[in-house]
Amino acid sequence: MSSECDCARARRELEEYVHHELCSEEAADIRAHLETCGSCREEHLVSVTLTQVISRSCREAAPEDLRRQVLLRLRQIQLEHISGAVSG
Ligand SMILES: [Zn+2]
Repeated sequence: MSSECDCARARRELEEYVHHELCSEEAADIRAHLETCGSCREEHLVSVTLTQVISRSCREAAPEDLRRQVLLRLRQIQLEHISGAVSG
């Protein structure tokens, strides 16, 4: 059973999931959703890749092209965060 509601929740918790900040129950929920939802799985892949690239880029420079993509993506995430944070 997949619904818009599940997707919205998965997207919201994806970042914490990637950083292993969710409790195991919540993480299991997200994992189950990712198994059934291609678009969220894609989003998860992007988050995981970003996390890896960023942690790796501390040690070695990322290829220019990838770097640009990551920066674009980061800007997008930051915008989402900003619009989410400004609530009152
Ligand atoms: Zn989904």
